[in-house]
Amino acid sequence: MAVFAASRESFGMPLAVYPGLAMRAGGRICVCVVSRSLSMGLSTGASAILLYHSLDPTGGLFSINPDLFRRHVEAIAQSGISVAPLARVRETPGALALTFDDGHRNFLDHALPLLLEFRMPATMFVVSGYCGHKPGALNWSEVQEIAAAGIHIGAHSVTHRDLTTLSAAEAQVEMRGSQAHIEDRLGRSVRAFAYPYGRSNTHVRRLASEIFDLACGVKPAQAGRDSDPFNLPRVFDFYVRNPHRLRRLARSEGRAYLALRRTASALRRGVAAKTAR
Ligand SMILES: [Zn+2]
Repeated sequence: MAVFAASRESFGMPLAVYPGLAMRAGGRICVCVVSRSLSMGLSTGASAILLYHSLDPTGGLFSINPDLFRRHVEAIAQSGISVAPLARVRETPGALALTFDDGHRNFLDHALPLLLEFRMPATMFVVSGYCGHKPGALNWSEVQEIAAAGIHIGAHSVTHRDLTTLSAAEAQVEMRGSQAHIEDRLGRSVRAFAYPYGRSNTHVRRLASEIFDLACGVKPAQAGRDSDPFNLPRVFDFYVRNPHRLRRLARSEGRAYLALRRTASALRRGVAAKTAR
């Protein structure tokens, strides 16, 4: 079974729009990842939630090549790791949950067949205002097709604005509006939400708690029973492009690796703040 051998990770990344994601700081920072001697693959009692966006070969920050995604799914399946529904992943130590944001149509061709083949549950967070309107986005009949295939559908706002920049009334329209749109189209309740850009604050999370059963953010961290159900950390797929990392993401190596990612992000934010002064 693969372990995280000591390696170097480059961080010459495009400007991040997600909390914790790499920011361009004008150089490359190298971090030595956990050594075998420090990480024996022990369970941490935690799980991990993966976040994917588009499945396409463009190489963009918010894209994963469909071939690589297949390798992810195969790596998870071959490792015997449980893939849990998002709503239960916190109570399933060692498990992964799979989530997909923004409702990209290429999910139909490149993710759905694999998820069905390997019988993996997943959640798609849909921006209701994009459906049938934005190029490359699913239309409502496609969302219905995905839901009928067993994929859980969650809400991801109406217009994908950063909710922390909106008034309480506007944020409520984004949350309740997307929930209502999806429920009207699918004829089933929508109980999960993903904050656009992973961004939330105390007020936004309190509002989400009044409307949904859980809500997801974005953070390179494991999830567990003590995680805030209205700010569940999701690991951007960019951090785990190497399929071998997926196998240990919910174990001790994964916890250490994600901690290093958070530290590196904090360092980059510090450098960026100093540069901006
Ligand atoms: Zn999004």
